[in-house]
Amino acid sequence: MAPTVVAPEALSYDAARERVLAAVTPLPAEPVGLEAATGRALRAAVTTPHDLPPFSNASMDGIVVRSADVASATRVAPVRLAAGGMVAAGHPATRPLQRHQFMWIMTGAPLPEEGDAVIPVEDLSGSTPGVSAITLSAAVSAGLNVRRSGADLRAGETALEEGRDLSAHDIGLAAAVGASELVVGRLPRVAVISTGDELVDVDQPLRPGAIRDSNRPMLAALLRATGVQTLSLAHVGDDPETTAAALERALADADVVITVGGVSAGAHDPVKVAIERIGGIALWRVAMKPGRPQAFGAPRGRLFFGLPGNPASVACVFEVLVRPALRKLQGFAVLDRPRIRVRAAHSIESRPRRTDFVRVTLATGTSGFVATEAGAQVSGHLTPQSRAHALLIVPEAAASLPAGDEAEALVLRWPDR
Ligand code: AMP
Ligand code: MG
Repeated sequence: MAPTVVAPEALSYDAARERVLAAVTPLPAEPVGLEAATGRALRAAVTTPHDLPPFSNASMDGIVVRSADVASATRVAPVRLAAGGMVAAGHPATRPLQRHQFMWIMTGAPLPEEGDAVIPVEDLSGSTPGVSAITLSAAVSAGLNVRRSGADLRAGETALEEGRDLSAHDIGLAAAVGASELVVGRLPRVAVISTGDELVDVDQPLRPGAIRDSNRPMLAALLRATGVQTLSLAHVGDDPETTAAALERALADADVVITVGGVSAGAHDPVKVAIERIGGIALWRVAMKPGRPQAFGAPRGRLFFGLPGNPASVACVFEVLVRPALRKLQGFAVLDRPRIRVRAAHSIESRPRRTDFVRVTLATGTSGFVATEAGAQVSGHLTPQSRAHALLIVPEAAASLPAGDEAEALVLRWPDR
């Protein structure tokens, strides 16, 4: 049994993050159909076996001509072309375009051999299919209204690179190049255990001294939004025996186990006692706010996160340590939320030798985003978290962030406008 290590000094956030990510090995990859691939991590790059578009085609309805035929055309010396047939989308011409001929062509139809320019029907002064000849009074350049074969992607080029967070648009591109299955990272199975005698479920009446368990539903929602599978959600009281048993069960099935509460200095903190028995888990004090007391380890090849109980701490530690780990497990190249520069609307208090993650709202200013604290930065408060658009980062070195100064922020959701 690996010993439980109690970190003597507070770890910096960066050091904690490094240790967490060093413990993460991506899960195996698996092929899935396109309908299941959105939001998953692409683990094998997709190259296109053919040009995209696969053939040169018309981008407008009109006539296709040989540009050389009409190079001399002017208003005083127009050029007359004879009708040579019709090409519709999905029905390639069976013969090349002859000299001094034109063909009617529809959007998306392959250009006939020798045809190299398309004159839109709007420019043909009322000529319609059925006329035997058309007179043109201006030259056209080769390539006019033509979507060239391979202009979007050349055969053999990479369409989607490994590590991508597959978007709906990526699915469209995959389909266009004939990839009916994509190789993606397996979804981590995650178990969540909340602890505390004071917690009651959301549908239960509040008895004296009780609060509702808000972290468990929030974590379930965060996990869903991160795309992972929630295996189980459990609650245990402040009893080391039941906590240890719940932890054992969770570690047997899940890739990742998250506990909430019971890791601080309190006498009744049951997670502390339970993880000492399991071993391989360190109790941490991370120099960050919110979220200072934590536990982390990789017992039995699983990942274990012991989050502190306050809702803001749970939300913050999830964003800056758990979520990056869950994304690395899946094989995403980008682990963090979008990071942007913002300007502080007012001075923001912090402390040196501690990374502060400040819940802020964002507004669009004249030169980028302006951040305002989304309420008091109290770890037990839920409304600032609910209102926040971003976590503004006051780095370890800074004692505070003066009004008007710039800082980085992790975007949780974009403001409506
Ligand atoms: P603990 O880390 O267990 O000492 O909890 C710290 C604070 O967070 C206490 O005020 C707890 O009541 C509160 N808390 C713990 N777990 C939850 C939870 N699942 N939902 C809401 N609040 C919680
Ligand atoms: Mg507790």
